[in-house]
Amino acid sequence: MVNLDRIRLDVENFSSEMNLEYFLTHAGFKEESNISAIYEKYAHLFDKKLIVTLAGMRKQARDEDERKLRYLQAFSLEYYLGMVVKELTDKAETMQTKGTVKVDGEKLAFHLAQIRMINEPNRQKREKLYQARNKCIDKINGPLLERMQKLHGAARDFGYKDYMALFMDAKEIDFPSLAKTMQDFISQTESIYTQRMNEELREKVGVGIKEAEKHDVSFFFRAKEFDTYFKKQSMIPALKKTLANMGIKLAKQKNVTLDLEERPKKNPRAFCTPIKIPEDVRLVMMPHGGHDDYATLLHETGHVEHFAYVNPKLPIEYKWLGDNSVTESFAFLLEYLLTDENWLEQHIKIDKTEQYLNFVFLYKLFFLRAYGAKISYEIKLHTDHLDGMDEIYKTVHEKVLKYKHPTTHYLITVDDAFYSAQYLQAWIFEAQLKNFLVREYGEEWFNNVKAGNYLTNLWSYGQKYNVVELAKILGYSGLDVKPLTTSIMKHLR
Ligand SMILES: [Zn+2]
Repeated sequence: MVNLDRIRLDVENFSSEMNLEYFLTHAGFKEESNISAIYEKYAHLFDKKLIVTLAGMRKQARDEDERKLRYLQAFSLEYYLGMVVKELTDKAETMQTKGTVKVDGEKLAFHLAQIRMINEPNRQKREKLYQARNKCIDKINGPLLERMQKLHGAARDFGYKDYMALFMDAKEIDFPSLAKTMQDFISQTESIYTQRMNEELREKVGVGIKEAEKHDVSFFFRAKEFDTYFKKQSMIPALKKTLANMGIKLAKQKNVTLDLEERPKKNPRAFCTPIKIPEDVRLVMMPHGGHDDYATLLHETGHVEHFAYVNPKLPIEYKWLGDNSVTESFAFLLEYLLTDENWLEQHIKIDKTEQYLNFVFLYKLFFLRAYGAKISYEIKLHTDHLDGMDEIYKTVHEKVLKYKHPTTHYLITVDDAFYSAQYLQAWIFEAQLKNFLVREYGEEWFNNVKAGNYLTNLWSYGQKYNVVELAKILGYSGLDVKPLTTSIMKHLR
C-alpha cells in the first residue's frame, strides 16, 4: 500500500532541498553542487514500482483525485527518466562546462565561445567560433545519442508505444495537435517573417536570409544598439514601480527575497527559486543592464509573484507540480511588458520606440516559429528511430526558419519531456490573458490595481488548473492562437 501523504511530504521536501542547492550554487555561496545526495535521499519517489502503482490508482480515480495522481505520476516519471540517464547527462554536461575550443591559437571555454560568438560583429571571426563549437558539439553527440536511446527504451519499458506517448499521457497535452496549430501560425506569418528577416539580416549582418548561418541570426538578435536605453541602475526601480502600480509592494512582501548582492561566483543571469511555496520565494540577480537583462528580470519576476501568491492551503501537487505552461504564461505576461508601447513610454526612455518595437516583435515571431519547428521535429525524434534524425533536424528547421542549420545540433537543442510544448502553450495563453486584461481593465491594465487583484487571484491557484482550463475561466472555449497571431501581425506590417 502506498502512503500518499508521506509521498506528498517528501515531494515537497525534495523540491525544496533541490531548489536550495540550486540557490546556493547559482547565487555564489557554494562551488560544488551536490544534488546526487538529495536524489539518493529521496530515491523512493522515483521508483518504477511506485510509478506503476500511481498509474494504476489514477485509472481508478476521478476528478480531483485523478488530477493529483496524474501530477504525482508525471513528476515521478520525469525524475525517474532523469535517473536512468544520470551518468550520460553528467558526461555531456561536463563536456560542455569543462570543454574548450581553439580559435586562431586561442583556447576558449565552450560556453564563453558562445558568448563571444553572439557578440562578435566580424562575420569571419564569428564563423570561426561557430565552427570550433560545432566540432566540440560533434563529440558531445556521442553521449547525447546514447542518452536519447536509453530514454526511448525506458519509455517503452513502461508499456508506452514511444517516448511521445508517455508524455502525452503524463502531461495531457496533444503534441501533434499543438504542432498543427503552429503549422498554421507558420503559414500565416510566412511572408512577413521571410521578408522582414531578409531585410534586417542584409542590413545588420550583410547577408540575406538564405545565406545566413545560425550565428548571424544570434548576432542580429543580440541587438546591442538598444542596450544604452536599458540602464542597469533603472532596472530595480522600474520593476518595483511596475509591481506597485498593480498593487504589489515588493519591499513589503515578507515571503519574497530580492538578492541583488554582488558575489564573485554568482550567476549573472536572473533566476527565481522557490524554497517553500508560498512562504519563501527568492529572486536572485546581479543587474548588468541591456534589453535582454530586463527581459530576464521581468520573466523571472513573473514566476516569483506567481509562487508568492499561491494559496498556502493548497495541496502540494498544486503548489509544486502540475502544468508548467501556467507559470511560464505568467512569466511571459511580465516579460512582454517590453513589447508594450505604453509601458515602454512610462519606464524606458527610448528615442526610437517604433524601431525597438519592430525589433521585439520580430524577435518574438522568430521564437514562435523556432518553437513551432522544434515541436514538429521533436515529434519525429521521439516517435521514430534515430538514424538520419540529424538530416531531419536540418530540413525541418530550414523549412520554417529559412536560414542554414547544421546537422550537428540535432540533439543538443532538445529539451527533455517536451518542455517546448509548454512554452508554446504559454505563449498562446499569454496572448489570450493579455487580451482579457485589456478588455476588462483597459490598455494600461498594468497600471490598474484591479487588474493586479485579478492576477493575484489567478496566481493563488498555483498550477492546479492547466492553461486550457484557465482559458475557459477567462471565458474562452479553450486555447486559441488567434490573439497571438493578431498581435504579431498588427505590429509587423
Ligand atoms: Zn520561465
